[in-house]
Amino acid sequence: MEQIPVHQVEPVNRCELCTAKCCGYITQSIDTPRSIHDFDVLLWQIAHQGVNVFKDSNGWYLLSTTPCEFLLEDNRCGIYHQRPMICREHDNDSCELEVPIDEGCELYFETYQELDEFCRKRYKSWDKRFAKKKSRK
Ligand code: SF4
Ligand code: SF4
Repeated sequence: MEQIPVHQVEPVNRCELCTAKCCGYITQSIDTPRSIHDFDVLLWQIAHQGVNVFKDSNGWYLLSTTPCEFLLEDNRCGIYHQRPMICREHDNDSCELEVPIDEGCELYFETYQELDEFCRKRYKSWDKRFAKKKSRK
């Protein structure tokens, strides 16, 4: 079947042609990290599998790449008539199909190394945090 460019797909049929990208993850807003301690906590969180961190015009978020358990193999919702309000209200007019989250935000960190590199540029004393407390391990 010939691929239809995303910008030519009308919102009314867009979801039918999508692999339900919006059902493949969750996000949780977090306080804006300001201190070395805040970023050190973020580093611990992103060290866990499937956890990403991003910042957009609304603030900072954790993103967990965890597909919804009700997503069916054919990309339909298995609890369509009971699905949560946030699913019903999700606007497919300009959604993840057109602009993936990692392309539409100001900052996106997928790995520990990416966030660590960002922190080293932001804080010259990044490694000095280790000297403040003795490790218990
Ligand atoms: S809202 Fe967007 S990302 Fe979600 S299924 Fe529809 S087209 Fe895909
Ligand atoms: S409940 Fe349905 S619409 Fe909502 S995330 Fe899960 S599969 Fe997607």
